Amino acid sequence: MDNFINKEYINELLENAKNATEEQIGIVLNKAKNLKKLSHEEVAILLQIRTDEQTKNLYEAAGHIKNRLYGNRVVLFAPLYVSNYCTNNCTYCGYKRDNKFPRTKLNQQQISDEIKVLEKLGHKRLALEVGEDKINSNIDYVLDTIDWIYQAGDIRRINVNIAATTVENYKRLKEKEIGTYILFQETYDKDAFEKYHPKSLKGNYERQLYAHHNAMEAGIDDVGGGVLFGLADYKVEVLSLLLHNEELENKYNVGFHTISVPRLQKAEGMDLTDYQHLITDEDFKKIVTILRLAVPYTGLILSTRESKEIREQLIECGITQISAGSQTGVGGYKESEKDLEVNQFELSDERSPIEIIKWLLKMNYLPSYCTACYRMGRTGDHFMDIVKAGKIGSMCHPNALMTLSEYVRDFGDNELLELSNIFIENEITKIDNEVIRKTLRKNLIRISKGESDLYV
Ligand code: SF4
Ligand code: SF4
Repeated sequence: MDNFINKEYINELLENAKNATEEQIGIVLNKAKNLKKLSHEEVAILLQIRTDEQTKNLYEAAGHIKNRLYGNRVVLFAPLYVSNYCTNNCTYCGYKRDNKFPRTKLNQQQISDEIKVLEKLGHKRLALEVGEDKINSNIDYVLDTIDWIYQAGDIRRINVNIAATTVENYKRLKEKEIGTYILFQETYDKDAFEKYHPKSLKGNYERQLYAHHNAMEAGIDDVGGGVLFGLADYKVEVLSLLLHNEELENKYNVGFHTISVPRLQKAEGMDLTDYQHLITDEDFKKIVTILRLAVPYTGLILSTRESKEIREQLIECGITQISAGSQTGVGGYKESEKDLEVNQFELSDERSPIEIIKWLLKMNYLPSYCTACYRMGRTGDHFMDIVKAGKIGSMCHPNALMTLSEYVRDFGDNELLELSNIFIENEITKIDNEVIRKTLRKNLIRISKGESDLYV
């Protein structure tokens, strides 16, 4: 079946880009810095950059764009794994069918217990993760789970990562007022896709590739994509991601709301040496920077799979959202002390949210638990129009400060209180718009007196 990922075309782009001159590379970087849309040929040129000097310029350009569009904000979220039943057999995943361990899924009470722990960690924004199993974790279970999460406390936004499904099921998901529907292609290389997803529903490449189309047909207007880097040639993956993004833009007027960049990690029942395309730290940084330049308005998400050091570097050059204090075992938040779960993959950054928040503040980043856009109806192409007009920063910045102040009030210790007081004061002085500054000051006082969930 023909689809919009044309491998020959991508290979040709990469081949031609090998001969790019210094001057051509400079022109592309300048264009990117000025927020001009890059052509496929130009992205391919960036992917073929080799010298240290060119790489340095690439990082610099991405840092410039990151700073210009997102300032120093970093959005925090946590994944919530509610079921590890899975009938798929993804070779790289600890939850695959061939791994034998007692499977489990959470009931309403257990979900409520998880939410209580997550709330104590300060989380407001979750990514719901459910394996594919038409009996044990079907769409009815997913929908119930969303209700249970909202009923259990004050979680303000649930992004949902479930297997590709039908337009009908996506419509039911849409009715639950989810945030973003997230699905990774894992790899756009069809041969690799079939090799690493053997004998399973997920092994149907086209089903995965057209899942976002179906979600959008169902009215879900924020969708997130991603690649599990390490399964195939990363240069081909990056160009494929862009083709996918453009396909959605052309058909539905808006591309990916977010792109996730997980990198293959060791998991139960797999050996990393079986994978020939593992990504070095340097190439990983190139991937993030090139995506930052190619899709400047799209959020880039990094998980806890990566170490503190790598996260630091990637936030600087492109990442806008990170998970914090994650548990990737089912019931993992409550059970985190006992270490009984089979995790989906190994974690590298196991710090708690308060540690992450202090770390960000010390590096002069502004941690944000903001979920305002969904509650204000700023979604889909409406959201993208605001972002492209350069107006979203004036909303994100005060919202981030309000959520930080709420977090510090509810969960902060003395060190955090001290750090954040100075930080917030300093950030307020950066706001030029007097109306916004005054509103923010008023809201910060309201928060200090006990009000919550204020946003603009
Ligand atoms: Fe199942 Fe997802 Fe793991 Fe694949 S990656 S085995 S679909 S849980
Ligand atoms: Fe995200 Fe909107 Fe909040 Fe900005 S204002 S952090 S875009 S939810």
